[in-house]
Amino acid sequence: MNAGMRKKRRASVDVSLCVACGCCVKVCPVDAIEIRGGIAAAVRTDKCVGCGRCAAECPASVITIQEAVA
Ligand code: SF4
Ligand code: SF4
Repeated sequence: MNAGMRKKRRASVDVSLCVACGCCVKVCPVDAIEIRGGIAAAVRTDKCVGCGRCAAECPASVITIQEAVA
């Protein structure tokens, strides 16, 4: 595989549907997701490793794991 075209997986939050419950924040192993402004979760894409734990935990199912060529 070409290392320069390695696919990376990142969590993505639909902020319009997020209820800011914080469940995703608690389960992230690398502290890559936070509640910003008390309104919605935001993913720090530089830290997120795409493990999917937040997506599995979200009661509103508003987190998806996206693949991106990085
Ligand atoms: S996918 Fe994993 S690393 Fe990324 S924000 Fe969710 S729990 Fe954290
Ligand atoms: S678990 Fe889901 S609804 Fe709760 S703060 Fe995270 S993204 Fe928003």
